[in-house]
Amino acid sequence: MDIPRIFNITESAHRIHNPFTPEKLATLGAALRLEPGTRVLDLGSGSGEMLCTWARDHGINGIGIDMSRLFAGQAKLRAEELGVADRVEFIHGDAASYVTGEKVGVAACIGATWIGGGVAGTIELLAKSLRPGGIILIGEPYWLRLPPTEDVAKGCLANSSSDFLMLPQLLASFGDLGYDVVEMVLADREGWDRYEAAKWLTMRRWLEANPEDDFAKEVRANLTSEPKRYATYTREYLGWGVFALMAR
Ligand code: SAH
Repeated sequence: MDIPRIFNITESAHRIHNPFTPEKLATLGAALRLEPGTRVLDLGSGSGEMLCTWARDHGINGIGIDMSRLFAGQAKLRAEELGVADRVEFIHGDAASYVTGEKVGVAACIGATWIGGGVAGTIELLAKSLRPGGIILIGEPYWLRLPPTEDVAKGCLANSSSDFLMLPQLLASFGDLGYDVVEMVLADREGWDRYEAAKWLTMRRWLEANPEDDFAKEVRANLTSEPKRYATYTREYLGWGVFALMAR
């Protein structure tokens, strides 16, 4: 079981697999006023940076599930590196129906809401692990400006412009699902550049190390087209943020 190989190549050197910088992740951790000992569940935990740094900085206990064998392995190494391996557990697996035995104070899905079939389904899934009064965290893109054509939406790697909402509508949609938005931290362009541009050097180095690999053609095509695609579309049209929700 694993994710498509292209992500394990392009994001192999990422610690954070979304447009948040380490500073934004720290801002979010502080904004949530986490109490030591809070249990935090993270579906699609990537390389574990959120749980590991929050365990170090706020004394939380974490459980992360991720379908990438590479990322889940990197998360375990990061926990050891930060001295929090006794506080955070990383499981390699499909999070699509993962529910914790003991309820958690914070249940998160940061940039992986397809896991629950979209934002609403993911909130429903996370709610099954959440103690009463707990916080759900959703990391999700939104349109900075509505794409004028469907080609522009596709240029942002969306299937259609209806994949995402504008920020006011996204915030209102959480209300429609019965949740208060109690905090939010938004990514900025600098963070988008860190997330996207870091893939380019990783791809270039991978191509140099693996010229004969079956995948080299695809990675080469990606490296050639990505900088322009990103600057034309994603960088101009897409925002991203993490939204903290509490049931009304
Ligand atoms: N939350 C992390 C990772 C976001 S990238 C961060 O912010 O850094 C999306 C992640 O979802 C990837 O790590 C990918 O491996 C994982 N993923 C994709 N499908 C999944 C599934 N069905 N179950 C668990 N993890 C999944």
